[in-house]
Amino acid sequence: MLDARIMAPGGGGICKEVIESRVAFADYDMVTLSADLRGSPSRKTVTGLCGNLGSTSANDVHELLECPVCVNLMYPPIYQCPNGHTVCSNCKTRVHNCCPTCRNDLGNIRCLALEKVAESLELPCRYQILGCHDIFPYYSKLKHEKNCRFRPYSCPYAGAECSVTGDIPFLVTHLKNDHKVDMHDGCTFNHRYVKSNPHEVEKATWMLTVFNCFGRQFCLHFESFHIGIAPVYMAFLRFMGDEDEARQFSYSLEVGGSGRKYMWQGVPRSIRDSHRKVRDSQDGLIIQRNMALFFSGGDRQELKLKVAGRIWKEQ
Ligand SMILES: [Zn+2]
Ligand SMILES: [Zn+2]
Ligand SMILES: [Zn+2]
Ligand SMILES: [Zn+2]
Repeated sequence: MLDARIMAPGGGGICKEVIESRVAFADYDMVTLSADLRGSPSRKTVTGLCGNLGSTSANDVHELLECPVCVNLMYPPIYQCPNGHTVCSNCKTRVHNCCPTCRNDLGNIRCLALEKVAESLELPCRYQILGCHDIFPYYSKLKHEKNCRFRPYSCPYAGAECSVTGDIPFLVTHLKNDHKVDMHDGCTFNHRYVKSNPHEVEKATWMLTVFNCFGRQFCLHFESFHIGIAPVYMAFLRFMGDEDEARQFSYSLEVGGSGRKYMWQGVPRSIRDSHRKVRDSQDGLIIQRNMALFFSGGDRQELKLKVAGRIWKEQ
């Protein structure tokens, strides 16, 4: 918004200044209006929950708080040039202290009034549309949004960089259609991992299978990597949901051969924890390559692991 008026063509020198100061005056009116509303019983309207005048002015204040350069909401210190154009502290450095609007030297003038107005604002969580109905003081909003339980999940697929985010049903469809991931129904499984050249650990073999049980989805990861210089295989389970729900489940994994057996019992990790993070914390069944080849039988030239597992709900 701010950009649009700044960039408006036809406004040469002085004329432009006049237009801008009139706009600034109008903004000032709206700020006062919403500040008044704050103390009134209709306080909620300021948050933009209702489509009336109150929310309109709140939106305008919201726009005032958008940095004209990066269009992010500005947080203190908010700076302004001698002509009153505002800019966020990050962009102040980026534009080398030159006002992006009027090219004057920015100096070090804080816009305390705008900082104060921001402080008085209460805004809905940005994931309102996804179901979060909480409202936050301006300066706590960002912190909440980083941990909001309605924030979208990242795609749990580990192989390639995938930037897809969304809710669980969306991600399940995405895994199926775009990553061609195997889907299995049921709480027990028997999986075979075969690799013809088990010495190519560097070309990380990672596999993902999704299990549907208890009406929820679990990701079984299997992959090879190095711990220090030791090549290992690792299997672990992640829950497609939040941490507090993940804790309600347990799982076991079992791998063996030639009369020996390794067992792991664990708690699935939430997919909020990145694949990498879970792997590096070694929170899963880890098999040294030598042992894996021993379990594979034969001439140790091929990896053939049978992993059996079970998922259950804790009472
Ligand atoms: Zn900025
Ligand atoms: Zn300026
Ligand atoms: Zn939220
Ligand atoms: Zn993906």
